[in-house]
Amino acid sequence: MYSFADKHNFGQILIVDDNPDNLRLLSKMLESKGFKIKKTVSGEIAIQAARIEPPDLILLDINMPDMNGYEVCRQLKSQKQTQHIPIIFISALDQTADKIMAFEMGGVDYITKPFQELEVLARVKNQLIIYQQNRQLIQQNQQLQQEIKERQRFEAALLAANQQLQLFALLDGLTGVANRRKFDEYLNLEWQKLAREKLPISLLFCDVDFFKNYNDTYGHLTGDDCLKQIAQTIKLSVKRPADLLARYGGEEFAVILSNTNNQGAIYLAENIRQKVYDLKIPHSQSRVDDFVTLSIGVATILPDVVISPDTLIEVGDKALYTAKAQGRNRIVAENLA
Ligand code: GH3
Ligand code: MG
Ligand code: MG
Repeated sequence: MYSFADKHNFGQILIVDDNPDNLRLLSKMLESKGFKIKKTVSGEIAIQAARIEPPDLILLDINMPDMNGYEVCRQLKSQKQTQHIPIIFISALDQTADKIMAFEMGGVDYITKPFQELEVLARVKNQLIIYQQNRQLIQQNQQLQQEIKERQRFEAALLAANQQLQLFALLDGLTGVANRRKFDEYLNLEWQKLAREKLPISLLFCDVDFFKNYNDTYGHLTGDDCLKQIAQTIKLSVKRPADLLARYGGEEFAVILSNTNNQGAIYLAENIRQKVYDLKIPHSQSRVDDFVTLSIGVATILPDVVISPDTLIEVGDKALYTAKAQGRNRIVAENLA
């Protein structure tokens, strides 16, 4: 037989009435339409049964001797496992006040005795459908919330990964300091800023002496290690937030010193040269010392929007070349400020 319960996969009803005749009549009526029925004459048992296996609807008599329907309803509504179950009140009372009370207690509908079969069926079906739709809505809502949360998590992870990527794109893979791209970007920015403020900028070009020989003697991996150590050592000397250390080329590091005059730049360059020397990295094939040394070209200029930052680079390069020519492991400074 085609039934409501089969069609909706749904329709477990608990009937609570102290009058066995009423119980029989109602359950027969509903069972014949395919609803699955449980019945009890006691409010207390009804509460227990609903807690253990919540039905989809409760038909609840108001007038019962031990615990009346309102009290049963109050207890069901006060418990998490049962508060969502719709309750239709049943009573012989056809008083407006009772009906209002039934709704105030949280009932969803009201059926009066004697039962009109078609009316009972219509009200029961109605409530079951509303209940099912409600449950579906709640489920869909939960699913949506879940999806939103997952999406937010995904977006946050994507954002973090993107930021990380952008960061990596500006870092040198070997030493972890800024790369050439970042150097160019930063020099242009600072150049414009300092041109407006009419403040000097200095540049250090630090190049490892006889590094080709170092690689040839100790191997490329040891060479890499040496470059990492030098980068870390220079980094410790470059302390101001507006300064930038970058790997400019193979074994050449550049330091941009914002708002720093020639004297200050020479002081810092000497500090770097000395600290790298103090690492005492053996370099048997260096023609200037037994340890790894740096030559540093220093250049200072007053930026101006009509001249290019390349001017500063050229002057720094020339100073470095002179330091090499004059014997290496030294600083040569050029001041155009
Ligand atoms: P100079 O004192 O005139 O600077 O001599 P140099 O040998 O240091 O200069 P040159 O420019 O002839 O050689 C630079 C060497 O740096 C060549 C190359 O093997 C080495 N080099 C460049 N990049 C790297 C790197 O990433 N790792 C290692 N291990 N070596 C590098
Ligand atoms: Mg070199
Ligand atoms: Mg070089």
